[in-house]
Amino acid sequence: MTEVSVAKEGVAATGDLVVLKNVNKHFGALHVLQDIDLTIARGEVVVVIGPSGSGKSTLCRTINRLETIDSGSITIDGKPLPHEGKELARLRADVGMVFQSFNLFAHKTVLENVTLGQVKVRKKDKKAAEERARALLDRVGVGAQAEKYPAQLSGGQQQRVAIARALAMEPKVMLFDEPTSALDPEMINEVLEVMQQLARDGMTMIVVTHEMGFARSAANRVVFMADGRIVEEASPDQFFSNPRSDRAKDFLSKIL
Ligand code: ADP
Ligand code: MG
Repeated sequence: MTEVSVAKEGVAATGDLVVLKNVNKHFGALHVLQDIDLTIARGEVVVVIGPSGSGKSTLCRTINRLETIDSGSITIDGKPLPHEGKELARLRADVGMVFQSFNLFAHKTVLENVTLGQVKVRKKDKKAAEERARALLDRVGVGAQAEKYPAQLSGGQQQRVAIARALAMEPKVMLFDEPTSALDPEMINEVLEVMQQLARDGMTMIVVTHEMGFARSAANRVVFMADGRIVEEASPDQFFSNPRSDRAKDFLSKIL
């Protein structure tokens, strides 16, 4: 892979990067996030797993403020989440997000997809932004696709472009919400490998995934959610070999 720095500050910087304290969120009568306390250290890779509907996506969406919260607090790098305007755009750039559906701009080329935000939000000049975009596209193995449009790429390639686009903004933390679950099986590994490499490079990552191989090899910690709560937190080894809660035991018996 091409040498290009992805983390805004080196791995040498330490301390808590993402801190959720007593976060609650409702959708009408549904209490979708209940008293969530979660602290993610710089450079840490946390895998979030749990049954469908347990609040994993909502949790991710609150961290880059695609959803508001009803009570509690969320801070990124010591700062509370901004409410609107330029501050919010900068926060979204600090928190890179990769969704299940690739969400690329369909009418922009791959290169434009990875260049735009750098120019608009990070105020880079176009040439520098394109240079970084090309380096990142090379890094995720799609450098040869730079002039194509998203629809001309495979799902695995599109998802790698989506990762490059998020990285282009020099995020402090990357959120991945089931990044491989919409992919054909033969494309899953090419995306997981890019994520593995990012983890090795020291990127702080929150990853919602049911890919247990990835969790075992890349995660520092597994967070298990059910019914809007964090039910269990453990090292991957501990969690997979010796889950403590009945909910986790039941969940693992269904997916492993
Ligand atoms: P997960 O990602 O773990 O499957 P989600 O966070 O997507 O769970 O959803 C948690 C619960 O919140 C589900 O019951 C879902 O139907 C509900 N939900 C999610 N988004 C909304 C929304 N925008 N409006 C109403 N209910 C929602
Ligand atoms: Mg989800």
